[in-house]
Amino acid sequence: MPKRSVRDVAVKGKRVLVRVDFNVPIDRGVITDDTRIRAALPTIQLLREREAKIILCSHLGRPKGKVDLQFSMEPVAERLSQLVHTPITLAHAVSGPEAEVAVESLGEGDIVMLDNVRFDPGEEANDPALSERLAKLADIYVNDAFGAAHRAHASTAGVAALLPAYAGLLMESEINALSKLLSQPERPFIAILGGAKVSDKLAVIEHLLDKVDTLLIGGGMANTFLLAEGKDIGKSLAERDLVAKASEIAATAKERGVALMLPSDAVISSSIDGNGNVVAIDQVPGEQAIFDIGPATISTFGKIIAQARTIFWNGPMGVFEKPAFNAGTKGVAEAVAASSGFSVVGGGDSVAAIEQLGLAAKIDHISTGGGASLEFVEGRVLPGIAAIPDEEKK
Ligand code: ADP
Ligand code: MG
Repeated sequence: MPKRSVRDVAVKGKRVLVRVDFNVPIDRGVITDDTRIRAALPTIQLLREREAKIILCSHLGRPKGKVDLQFSMEPVAERLSQLVHTPITLAHAVSGPEAEVAVESLGEGDIVMLDNVRFDPGEEANDPALSERLAKLADIYVNDAFGAAHRAHASTAGVAALLPAYAGLLMESEINALSKLLSQPERPFIAILGGAKVSDKLAVIEHLLDKVDTLLIGGGMANTFLLAEGKDIGKSLAERDLVAKASEIAATAKERGVALMLPSDAVISSSIDGNGNVVAIDQVPGEQAIFDIGPATISTFGKIIAQARTIFWNGPMGVFEKPAFNAGTKGVAEAVAASSGFSVVGGGDSVAAIEQLGLAAKIDHISTGGGASLEFVEGRVLPGIAAIPDEEKK
């Protein structure tokens, strides 16, 4: 059931509190990646065109419930102001009289940004008192912070119960893309999972086993599955306590007719800073470690990806931060980009890899929420989404 959308509400002259995810990386006061700010522009622009009074609210970093100016929204307000070509007032408060004064001075189409909502300990505690102070600032609530939707906080869940609540355009597009994966995907549906650890992705793997035709596993997490097959993986990163779990997953996959594929070759080295050598997967010497999938695996995975009608990718295939070990991630990224199937990439590092490679435009949906997109694909109910009422039947 679709959520009530910001597109369908009359906002002219109304005070609209918009929860955004402006949790951007900042290095010595400079925003190093403004993707998340840009992602909220469609909602902000829609509200400006429709002459709402816009109140933006976000968290930034982990100030732990205290005012800590290194986590102030000031650089974000400045960047947004450049992007929308309009001055944006920063209220030097999260809520309360100072914020109320800033909101009162808003004209139609104007924007005020509240300061970092995590300056208030009530945010992460989902304190009803903070929800009420936030609700007092506005007539309507819009949640566009998909990246924070897996948290039941005052500004993502609590306040939604106190005001008429709607999904923003980014929230909507995230929900649409991720739902498309989970309900009636076009087949074959291929999931590619990588990254460092099986433990981070266990719930995702288990949920996807019910949905996909093929599961391609690379990255550090493949090592635990290789161990389960009795392979010698030398000094590679692995979670020995999860070997039994990995065997169980492989057995379940077999039972359900899901092809679970592991690397057939690897790029190995004696050190993460060393050069790589390619070996067959059963030839990994005891004192070396696997840092990437090898060329034969890239080719096999690539052919399967090319046949897919639906693709979900999370987690790099190797230590892509090092040029010696980025070929696997690059190869898979290129295959996903070239595919004509519906493709979704989620996860902080996988998305960073796609962007570094300049392939983002060739992916159907790049999720802005790392943790949130994983929880969605795990089949969990995200509190920030649950708090928005479903669209009324027309
Ligand atoms: P995402 O953020 O896309 O969900 P993860 O955070 O789970 O991905 O994993 C990314 C990390 O996994 C990267 O830092 C990468 O270096 C690491 N990684 C991938 N393959 C290996 C490997 N074979 N050995 C060690 N680390 C690996
Ligand atoms: Mg990561």
